Amino acid sequence: VSVAPAPVPPQVSALDLLDAMDGVCYLADTAGTILAAGRQNWPLHAERHESGWLRVENVVGRVLFDVISGDEVAAAYRAMHERVAGGLVPEISFSHRCDSPTIERHMRMSISAVRSQGRIAAILYQSQILEEIRRPPMFIFSPDALVRSGQQVREHDILHLCSYCHDVAWPIGQHAADGEWIRPGEYYARGGAEPAHVSHGICPRCRASIVDAAE
Ligand SMILES: [Zn+2]
Repeated sequence: VSVAPAPVPPQVSALDLLDAMDGVCYLADTAGTILAAGRQNWPLHAERHESGWLRVENVVGRVLFDVISGDEVAAAYRAMHERVAGGLVPEISFSHRCDSPTIERHMRMSISAVRSQGRIAAILYQSQILEEIRRPPMFIFSPDALVRSGQQVREHDILHLCSYCHDVAWPIGQHAADGEWIRPGEYYARGGAEPAHVSHGICPRCRASIVDAAE
């Protein structure tokens, strides 16, 4: 009885795989430094950010949590990263929104441990588009409205937008955990003004269902 020889694995690099993967994909080390990024969907990701630095060639070597908008959101990603990097869970995944002014975009993020030779060698981030729906423009999703780090803006001029589900805190300047969070369409329906400044945060519902659920 002859046994078929085991197939020889193709010589592909991590970057080759990242380039072939669907969505915005990148590999970080266990401390959070971005090691490599797939080149397929980064123009999509960069579209939301006015500064050119969030292009694939500019994120490699940066610490992931430094490039995430909103301190609260960055802290939540750091906590999830540490759980996966520490081997407490093999993977964390959740659905999230990544709208542009004219596109309602539903996505799914997964954060998974990449194991090599018995240890966690890297953390893989993959964010895939599930659905895109065109709609009339909503300025709250304009990159120009996003408060940049170091920018001095009065708290009561800021509209708080949940980074995960895109609910907004009502009204502008409100950010209480027990306050009211509403859909963007409802914000405009109530006569909410086009805000000059938008900040990314986490609504109570997503804190419970995504951030706390990951702990
Ligand atoms: Zn939310």
